[in-house]
Amino acid sequence: MSDISLKLDSTYTNLPDIFYTELSPVPVTNPEVVIFNQKLAEDIGLDLTQLNPQQKADLLAGNLIPDRCTPFAQAYAGHQFGNFTMLGDGRAIILGEHLSASGKRFDIQYKGSGRTPYSRGGDGRAALGPMLREYIISEAMHSLGIPTTRSLAVISTGEIVYRENELPGAILTRMASSHIRVGTFQFASLHQEKPICQALLDYTINRHFPDIQDNENKALSMLNRVMELQAELITHWMRVGFIHGVMNTDNMAICGETIDYGPCAFMDVFDPSTVFSSIDHQGRYAYANQPVMAHWNLARLAESLLPLIDEQREAAIELAEDSLKGFEKIYKSKWLAMMGTKLGLQDVEPGDEILITELLDLMHEYSADYTNTFRDLIKKEPPSNKLFLSDGFNQWHARWKNRLQEKNQVLESSFALMSSVNPCVIPRNHKVEEALHSAEGGNLEPFHNLLTALSDPYQENERNHAFQLPPESGAKTYQTFCGT
Ligand code: AMP
Ligand code: MG
Repeated sequence: MSDISLKLDSTYTNLPDIFYTELSPVPVTNPEVVIFNQKLAEDIGLDLTQLNPQQKADLLAGNLIPDRCTPFAQAYAGHQFGNFTMLGDGRAIILGEHLSASGKRFDIQYKGSGRTPYSRGGDGRAALGPMLREYIISEAMHSLGIPTTRSLAVISTGEIVYRENELPGAILTRMASSHIRVGTFQFASLHQEKPICQALLDYTINRHFPDIQDNENKALSMLNRVMELQAELITHWMRVGFIHGVMNTDNMAICGETIDYGPCAFMDVFDPSTVFSSIDHQGRYAYANQPVMAHWNLARLAESLLPLIDEQREAAIELAEDSLKGFEKIYKSKWLAMMGTKLGLQDVEPGDEILITELLDLMHEYSADYTNTFRDLIKKEPPSNKLFLSDGFNQWHARWKNRLQEKNQVLESSFALMSSVNPCVIPRNHKVEEALHSAEGGNLEPFHNLLTALSDPYQENERNHAFQLPPESGAKTYQTFCGT
């Protein structure tokens, strides 16, 4: 304990005891700040300026716990690649909840903070490379305008972690609107005690959806809200070519933020079946399967909520199924509107879907780069690549231009719209690897350069140019790993 004044709530610990275990992070040998997100700290009014550098490193590593904090690890369950498992924070501990000046509540969580009762076989630790990877990709997602957990800091621990090799250890300090997952509701429903599920439902509604508090069927209302948020989130992922890679139910946050940046990666060449995760052999979490898997996860959420939806099981199932049936339609209309904006269309009309899918088919056929193709559409001088030189594309291009100029729509306004939704900089795998490799060797300059480029991803400029180039090999062979 310490005398530093950091006022944090821990409302989560008002839930029944089974939802968490109180414990402190396991102290690390020699914490040093590798990167601290000053901008984020300022934005949310988290003032650490009173701390000296050592105190700051100690606090962000979990070596120093402010007075009156009650750190805890969460219990949850989850379907991992379709198989149900009991889980929980095996290497994460929540320090508490910070309230921003505007009243927004954020969990502050350490990832890699040592073993917990939920660690199973794991060591509870994390390596520097993967924590910097989460930092850079989550911050890139934020700058792309996508709901996400945020990264506050990466702290090196001065310890070695043992994976396939010996690696430098680190802790990621992250922020989330909450860490309540679909898997938290699955965990609650396992107990088959209505008050337990009811407590979690009430807590979640109070924290995330206070406006539905007085609805007649709160459980169903929450299901509908989560469906909406997930449809929105996946639509964003599809927009920028983000592949989460491990959409297990424990990795789907109720608040609609992207969470768990293990094996995620961005697609270069457009191919709907793209998978990067080394263990996703069936393509369960492939790019184009993400909406399907989100729907599957939402069905698991609905199952967990059944006793709260209606006391009569049959009636509850009917209500839940009715809601779930709506997901496809909600997603489809969001996806169409989003793809429309990628092509500069303010409103999507009948016929536009064909225009959209034809372009995607051509991009697939000619192995076009997903990100660059949409930016190339607005360039005065289009590139001379296979796609742009093909007859099929030129015919499509003429139809698209006609469509844009229908109803006297001004081309400039379409292009402005396109520039605001089609990023020119994404965290390309080869650039991320390059930056991490240097960082692990002690040179953080490439990491900072990449981070700077990613902080303004819709802005075309000289500085960003190096980060826009796809990998030379096409990088279909790029692989990512879970549990790093
Ligand atoms: P993930 O696939 O990253 O969502 O991880 C699944 C579960 O494994 C989570 O509950 C993690 O807390 C746990 N886990 C991952 N890595 C470790 C580790 N090194 N030690 C203990 N638990 C871990
Ligand atoms: Mg996880």
